[in-house]
Amino acid sequence: MAKIKRNENAPEERLEADRKQLELLAARCGEEAGLHRPLNEVVGGVITGIPEDTDLAQALSDRETTDILVHLLDQNREQVERALERLHEGTYGICEGCGRRIPEARLNYQPAATRCVECQSHWDRLNGRTA
Ligand SMILES: [Zn+2]
Repeated sequence: MAKIKRNENAPEERLEADRKQLELLAARCGEEAGLHRPLNEVVGGVITGIPEDTDLAQALSDRETTDILVHLLDQNREQVERALERLHEGTYGICEGCGRRIPEARLNYQPAATRCVECQSHWDRLNGRTA
């Protein structure tokens, strides 16, 4: 098994921090469903997969949207956990789809990424995520 190369970006720390925050947010979203609080205040920065044109503040009044958000948080947490697993296996930064290196810039932007952009969008299409 390949050794994990020490990296200045310390993806493990970032991933652990993200995981904790996502767990917290999921709990909080569940508790606060129905309270009128701007969603982007609650989830700011951590969550991915929300279409950019979604009006988060308006969406909060919609109970169904809160459920979707909790689901998204769950998905994000699973993704972070998978990236952590790969980190421990020594395969972090290798695309799950094509086996090539995931570009450094993508990992910096999205430390939990386990696929390159091409493979991720292909996977998203197959799994009906995003339009
Ligand atoms: Zn790939």
